[in-house]
Amino acid sequence: MNHAEITAWLRETDADRLAELWQSADRVRQQHVGDQVHLRGLIEVSNHCVRLCGYCGLRAENTSVKRYRMSADEVVACAEEAVERDYGTVVLQAGEDPMLSTDFISELIRRIKSSTPLAVTLSLGERSNEELAEWRTAGADRYLLRFETSNRMLYERIHPPRPGERSDRIAILHTLRELDYEVGGGVMIGIPGQTYDDLARDIELFGTLDLDMIGSGPYLVHPDTPLADPKNRPSASDDRQVPCDELTAYKVIALTRLVCPLANIPSTTALAVLDADAGWKFGLTRGANVIMPNVTPSKYRMLYDIYPGKAYTTEHIDVECINAIGRRIGVGRGDSPNYEKAACGLAIHLH
Ligand code: SAM
Ligand code: SF4
Repeated sequence: MNHAEITAWLRETDADRLAELWQSADRVRQQHVGDQVHLRGLIEVSNHCVRLCGYCGLRAENTSVKRYRMSADEVVACAEEAVERDYGTVVLQAGEDPMLSTDFISELIRRIKSSTPLAVTLSLGERSNEELAEWRTAGADRYLLRFETSNRMLYERIHPPRPGERSDRIAILHTLRELDYEVGGGVMIGIPGQTYDDLARDIELFGTLDLDMIGSGPYLVHPDTPLADPKNRPSASDDRQVPCDELTAYKVIALTRLVCPLANIPSTTALAVLDADAGWKFGLTRGANVIMPNVTPSKYRMLYDIYPGKAYTTEHIDVECINAIGRRIGVGRGDSPNYEKAACGLAIHLH
């Protein structure tokens, strides 16, 4: 699919045409990753963050957040709960928190991997190449790092670098690939100043980067962030600005599936915030094949306030819900078929 076609779909408003898009995405999903819906237990390990992202409630300067950091024992208990719920993966997510040291995370990975069959996904922000390598050696399987937008100027406005450094998430995604992680990226949809052309380029970049996991969700305004103030918002003219709505998020899921047929694609929590009853279901029937139920203890979950409404989403998706849409709960770790394809290609090559 070329740039013009992706842009045209992003702008499409005709319900019949959109029904064709949903059907194509669902067919491609069925053909390439099947009917299983993989469940990932999300553990929000710490809400401390050193960064100043203009969009996120966890940014360092937001003094209205009560900060927490879970102990290793608490994280392991959450992983055990994920096993009890039959999930195949846990995702350890946090703000960019230097107190989550290289050794602390390595030890945590080793404990989870030695006591459970779970795959471990990390989503800890921009960490050094040495740390990423060490965590892979400790047994981490996957790493999620959204590049947020491929428009470099917009990215620099909303995601300032740490002093003296350049933030280059795309370079980190390449490093993760070299370290043989399953690599996940994604973007926010409807960031102020994001144009349809930008978003089409984001989707094309998912394909170029050959990502194994792609999680994108609508940008949601957090009142205690710079982007909530119209004075600070980058702007695009009304007819070029991407809306941060549910429909556009479904279009992105569907187009991502068409561009990256073998990737694991979640129906994200931000979508469930916009439509608590049916967001997850529309995501799954328009290209997605993964759900990430939250297993963080509720006393911490309330404080992981990246955007309003997140703590109140219904995270409980059971077998009946999944079966009702003609799908079944995934068995095992649910590795990305895109990653397995690459591993298989390498094995054939070495033979
Ligand atoms: N700190 C790590 C990082 O930035 O990659 C992981 C945690 S961070 C909260 C995970 C993702 O939340 C970010 O990549 C961003 O896309 C998303 N996010 C943050 N603020 C958001 C907002 N206001 N609306 C929608 N998504 C948001
Ligand atoms: Fe920190 Fe991630 Fe939020 Fe940025 S998006 S402020 S890095 S938690």
